[in-house]
Amino acid sequence: MTGKATILLVDDTRTNIEILAACLQHDYQLKVAMTGIRCLELAEKTPIPDLILLDVVMPDMDGYEVCRKLKESSVTKDIPVIFVTGKDSDEDEEYGLQLGAVDYITKPIRPAIVTARVGTQVILKQQSDALRSMALHDQLTSLFNRHFLIEAATNKISRLSRHGGKLSIMMIDIDHFKLVNDQFGHQSGDIVLQAVADVLADCNRKEDVVARFGGEEFVILLDHCSLDDTQDKAEQLRSKIEQLNPGKIHVTASFGIAELESENEGFEHLLARADAAVYSAKEKGRNCIVKANKDLESDVKGK
Ligand code: GH3
Ligand code: MG
Ligand code: MG
Repeated sequence: MTGKATILLVDDTRTNIEILAACLQHDYQLKVAMTGIRCLELAEKTPIPDLILLDVVMPDMDGYEVCRKLKESSVTKDIPVIFVTGKDSDEDEEYGLQLGAVDYITKPIRPAIVTARVGTQVILKQQSDALRSMALHDQLTSLFNRHFLIEAATNKISRLSRHGGKLSIMMIDIDHFKLVNDQFGHQSGDIVLQAVADVLADCNRKEDVVARFGGEEFVILLDHCSLDDTQDKAEQLRSKIEQLNPGKIHVTASFGIAELESENEGFEHLLARADAAVYSAKEKGRNCIVKANKDLESDVKGK
């Protein structure tokens, strides 16, 4: 993680905010909310806080209720919450921790204790963010990995079944990549993979998902994109890859593109159609784009 972690301070009493800010402002970027409602607003805004210090007794909405709402939202559920409160009975503390808070600090505020406990939770949050990121990305290219792609595609398809819309995919397979490794070595092969991945990542809209699917295979999920638009995009990418010459190695790729037929077509079937289209592109002489057939069987027979 680059830069300072962001902490959201929530308390309806200005003096408490000032005491907390004095402890933390040197090491962290601070956001301040003086009501529960404001806390919920700021928790969803970029930069999403890495930690929330939450008072319990506040007018309108108390801290327990705020914590419950934070844990219900997919955007804010992973933000750790520390209660900082005058409610110091065992029952209060137990209740706060049961709501999902990671720690419970009682007032009066003791700066050294706050600083130490905040420091521990910020490190834990940064470590869990790093692990999550590693679990979803491919190490060599930094693109998303197959696991993330399948999760994202499944979510997009189930959203489409509720709201309608288009979804297309593009499968890209580098041509004769084995020869690149054989002729220039595995390290050069890796450089080619990184260069192709950069082209794919650069050319896409934020809402599209670009993933390394396997060795020298990539998949792009294109939201709200028709098959014709996907073909235009694939042509741009095909041409860029052909001109790339990473490490002075001439590289081309074959493309299979497919559009989701209906929300009843699962991702596996869509992917299988795109894969069959890549196979046809290889058969046709590589460095070209083939649109998938509606029916997987006819594509496979056509090989
Ligand atoms: P085609 O045009 O038919 O796709 O032929 P190809 O040689 O690209 O296909 P094939 O599937 O036979 O070979 C893919 C090669 O990709 C084999 C494997 O050694 C290489 N490969 C897979 N992952 C990596 C990697 O991470 N780095 C490098 N350098 N090579 C890899
Ligand atoms: Mg290949
Ligand atoms: Mg392959």
